[in-house]
Amino acid sequence: MAEQRALTPRAEDFSAWYNEVVQRGELAGYTPVRGCMVIRPHGYAIWELMQKALDARFKETGHQNAYFPLFIPQSFLHREAEHVEGFAPETAVVTHGGGKELEEPLVVRPTSEAIIWPIMADWIQSYRDLPLLINQWANVVRWEMRTRLFLRTPEFLWQEGHTAHASQEDAQRETLLMLSVYRRFMEEWMAMPPLTGVKTEWDKFAGADRTYACEALMQDNWALQAGTSHNLGQNFARAFDVKYQTEDGSHEYVWSTSWGVSTRLIGGLVMSHSDDLGLVLPPKLAPIQAVIVPIYKSDEGRGQVLEAAEKLAGQLRDVVRVRLDDRDTVNPGAKYYEWEGKGVPVRLEIGPKDLEKGQVMAVKRFAPDPKARKVPIPDGEVRSRLTEMLDAMQNELLATAIKRREDNSHRGIDDYEEFKEIIATAGGFVYTGYCGTEECEASVKDETKATIRLMPDEDFRSDEIPAKCICGKKAEYEVVWARAY
Ligand SMILES: [Zn+2]
Repeated sequence: MAEQRALTPRAEDFSAWYNEVVQRGELAGYTPVRGCMVIRPHGYAIWELMQKALDARFKETGHQNAYFPLFIPQSFLHREAEHVEGFAPETAVVTHGGGKELEEPLVVRPTSEAIIWPIMADWIQSYRDLPLLINQWANVVRWEMRTRLFLRTPEFLWQEGHTAHASQEDAQRETLLMLSVYRRFMEEWMAMPPLTGVKTEWDKFAGADRTYACEALMQDNWALQAGTSHNLGQNFARAFDVKYQTEDGSHEYVWSTSWGVSTRLIGGLVMSHSDDLGLVLPPKLAPIQAVIVPIYKSDEGRGQVLEAAEKLAGQLRDVVRVRLDDRDTVNPGAKYYEWEGKGVPVRLEIGPKDLEKGQVMAVKRFAPDPKARKVPIPDGEVRSRLTEMLDAMQNELLATAIKRREDNSHRGIDDYEEFKEIIATAGGFVYTGYCGTEECEASVKDETKATIRLMPDEDFRSDEIPAKCICGKKAEYEVVWARAY
């Protein structure tokens, strides 16, 4: 029987709690390869649900999937100056193959622009070939020394969209469209409502004109960059000579974008909703949405209870992802502990007393009022009540997360002492006016470890923006600061 040990509480040590939730939920673990993780079946099932939802949205918005090589000739990475400067320090490089030293070392992709553009250049001849809208599901490698499961590992899984357009306006429209696809996915599926906006010049993707980002607030009031969408201008088109013939016969460089989200989202999901009992999953992303636990003592009761449990599973199978836990070797208490730790949204208990009353006992993994977790449901209503319950839980998780984000957002801050006090104690998103200089952020970061997460877009901008930056200079625009993963 599994050892039923309490987790380190969030309030005591958030980082230890996070690791324990991931392990107890059987989402991932470390491996003999330094820093590299294994994504276990329950964690991978969450990723598959994420993939399915995102992939459908990518296709609805006109994108097609393709697959490009894992290796990039080193010289290709060097063609875009800012790109190589940004990524070279964290690349893994293959120097030998088949027992021989390679003529040219191969970089294991940290991102694929430098291999995708020389290939897609051949696919684009004229304006009729545009827009070219491609997505790739793949793994990438960025050599990280300080690792954390899902949040920072040398190898991770992601999707990377790469698109080419005939005009700057089209590329900008695509960049913002995919940012909104990410935002909606995070809200509607993950119940993790992000802020959206644009990164500062010095924090943008290496080789981009502009980087837009989704930043979500975790329960420890640190920010997680959860997805990015880049307008690459003509930078990569120039580096890889990607031109098209216009309608009037001249030749122009294409305008391109790239955008991505990764298995880091699973870390965000854990840190958004889970509690001191373990994982909490929004129903839409729960691999098992309801688990049926039969409860019996005698052999006689067993047959009747199991029969009812099997019948119930049969009734539910086409409306929810249901699991009947009829293991004889594990007692009900241990089963509760296990499925709670794995974040299953609803547990359905059936025992002899429930049979007598013609009901099942539903126990919700999450309820805004923790005392309202247990709900008896009459036999004939389980199908409809369960789906209602799951929908309601999805909405309640989102509402709770939005409230938490707003409760921990501090707007209109223009006093540096107050700013430091907030960052050092409460944390959260701190909205300030900003002078726009890199030196200002660098000195604030040195002193407080907070960084500018983004300049909020109009959905999040404050009604009134302070006239001065926290450094005392005139403010040029508003930014959001936070400690970040
Ligand atoms: Zn300043």
